[in-house]
Amino acid sequence: MATFRFKALEILMTRKPIEVKREENLTSDYYGMLVFDRPKMKKYLSKDSFKGICDAIDNGTTIDRKIADQVAIGMKTWAIENGATHYTHWFHPLTDGTAEKHDAFIDHSEMGGVIESFPGKLLAQQEPDASSFPSGGIRNTFEARGYTAWDVSSPAFVVGTTLCIPTIFIAYTGEALDYKAPLLKVLNAVDKAAVDVCQYFDKNVTQVTANLGWEQEYFLVDEALFIARPDLVLTGRTLMGHSSAKDQQLEDHYFASIPERVAMFMIDLENEAYKLGIPVKTRHNEVAPNQFELAPIFEEVNLANDHNQLVMDLMNKIARHHGFRVLLHEKPFSGINGSGKHNNWSLSTNTGVNLYSPGKNPKSNTQFLTFIVNTIKAVYDNQDLLRASIVSASNSHRLGANEAPPAIISTFLGTEVSAMLDQIEEMVGEKKMTPDEKTDLKLNIGRIPEILLDNTDRNRTSPFAFTGNRFEFRAVGSSANCASAMIALNSVVAAQLIQFKKDVDKLIDANVKKDEAIFQVLKRYITECKPVRFDGNGYSPEWAIEAERRGLTNIKSVPVALDAYLYKSSRKVFESLGIFNEKELEARVEVEYEKYIKKIQIEARVLGDLAINHIVPTAITYQTMLIENVKGLKMIFSDDEFNELAGARKDLIKEISNHISNIKSKTKEMIEARKVANVIEHSREKALAYEQNVKPYLEDIRYHIDKLELVVDNELWPLPKYRELLFTR
Ligand code: ADP
Ligand code: MG
Repeated sequence: MATFRFKALEILMTRKPIEVKREENLTSDYYGMLVFDRPKMKKYLSKDSFKGICDAIDNGTTIDRKIADQVAIGMKTWAIENGATHYTHWFHPLTDGTAEKHDAFIDHSEMGGVIESFPGKLLAQQEPDASSFPSGGIRNTFEARGYTAWDVSSPAFVVGTTLCIPTIFIAYTGEALDYKAPLLKVLNAVDKAAVDVCQYFDKNVTQVTANLGWEQEYFLVDEALFIARPDLVLTGRTLMGHSSAKDQQLEDHYFASIPERVAMFMIDLENEAYKLGIPVKTRHNEVAPNQFELAPIFEEVNLANDHNQLVMDLMNKIARHHGFRVLLHEKPFSGINGSGKHNNWSLSTNTGVNLYSPGKNPKSNTQFLTFIVNTIKAVYDNQDLLRASIVSASNSHRLGANEAPPAIISTFLGTEVSAMLDQIEEMVGEKKMTPDEKTDLKLNIGRIPEILLDNTDRNRTSPFAFTGNRFEFRAVGSSANCASAMIALNSVVAAQLIQFKKDVDKLIDANVKKDEAIFQVLKRYITECKPVRFDGNGYSPEWAIEAERRGLTNIKSVPVALDAYLYKSSRKVFESLGIFNEKELEARVEVEYEKYIKKIQIEARVLGDLAINHIVPTAITYQTMLIENVKGLKMIFSDDEFNELAGARKDLIKEISNHISNIKSKTKEMIEARKVANVIEHSREKALAYEQNVKPYLEDIRYHIDKLELVVDNELWPLPKYRELLFTR
């Protein structure tokens, strides 16, 4: 009897790369063909409606009913020409992934039959039956209704036969039920706060945009093997599996040539991404076997995040065409690297200046340092909130776990910028600076090289690193919606910039010159947030000790880390900027606890099932074979000869028995622990019970299964092994 595993391996042997051709010779010829972007709006809309929508996109003006109707007609015509029969409000609920409910473009016609129809009110707003989306209790207290509303700043697009309209998702009572609504508010807030600070340096700055370039890491696994692993299918990660004799030790996968079947998948993916106007640029092999990365050119945060969500969706779909499945989980395989999603982030002005790039003169460099210092101050003051924005059940296998970065939030600045901050700290005194001191300081500041992109001076172990012209928030998980991290980061920076302006203005009001006021405040901040600056190896055990000495927090528990959303300081940030009110914050944390509980619950149930109905029966079968063998030996050999020959086999029988007993008893205990946790009502306590009392069994039980994998006959083993999952493609 061949196991499912061997059938899967047979299928794998017949796999051939699927030829994929580029859509056109030049990417620019088909880039954005499925997006209702400005050129298409111009073509399909009347002058008035085109102006109306451009105004709404650029200046946030509202769109009236008449214009909405006209835009809807143009959008529908364009979408139908591009194969659409349906439309959907596409939104980001607080689950993983996006949501869509398709409606056909039809309505009864007066003559009988149907006509293609799409009125403006359906473009602008809809009421999906949203009662099954997580709301953290918001919808229970009032009405169970929520509605989606058009986000004009992100263009509509066609996927397959559906016109997708990016929308926000909110309760009738006004609270946000999604990631996008608060993200849009935050981006507004950081724009305003940053413009106000830029005004000290350049009166022409009227708009500041936050940018995001995400680097998406992922694994590919052959589809046949994937299906033979119920744990991968149901939880996205392997809950068992002994490490492969060879995995990433030789470091021969990183940047190696891309296997052809994978290359074809990538080309296919890029083709589709380009049609949707997603500027994907970089692809390469990552550190772990079968691990890869895709990164676009950075874009404005809201658009970039929509594009990331779309890309994850595209990856899932396109991988199947190539006989692969994509694993976006942060830790699909134990013992080798997990996947993250570095969020490269910066602020840029309408005058074309990247506020995190050093400038050409002392003035622009002072502006640069102002933004750097305010950012690290914001990170220092809100380290726990930033951590809370990236923790999850799946990301906890990376952060604070054995093989990965710690759960300490620190910043890396590199030698040049660090030296500059040290100088400011040294040179600026409490007293008025002498003209000589001022000249000195300005000269030094003017000396920061315009381009700091020095690859040798990069630190890959810092969760929040300055990389020459941007910050890279590296702690974000591969499966996450970047909005969560972007909401937290942009909020704390916005709040900090507002504080900075207050502090500087106060000194100016007390007759301190503007320049000097800025330096005095910067100096104070530099001193205050020094503990968060760390340029050393963030993965070393010494750092955890040093960080503790510096008073930095190191919270490994997910439920405890989530508490930071409700700290007084966090509430102040969110409420002062109008991002979340008290109720929304509490609801969001509630949703996170629920997600955490359910993820561990599912893993525990899947592992229990597999242990009892896949692994134990296999082990017993093999054990029975051994027993038969020992019995046979006994029949044909003398007692002395038998004792000499059968000793090792008898030990093996005992060893297998021992593992089987452990698996059975521990699985039973895990079920009991779950029962106890399940009756806890308070979700934070319940999440803690799952973390402390249920989760440890996952490792415990796995240990015995992995030991069995080493001794049980390979022919009998039912689940594809790590060496097969990781090295066949
Ligand atoms: P690395 O792996 O060396 O960190 P990648 O080239 O893989 O770099 O990805 C870097 C990402 O950072 C890309 O998405 C890139 O567009 C983005 N990026 C570059 N400059 C900026 C910037 N000023 N602001 C935001 N993102 C940026
Ligand atoms: Mg990279």
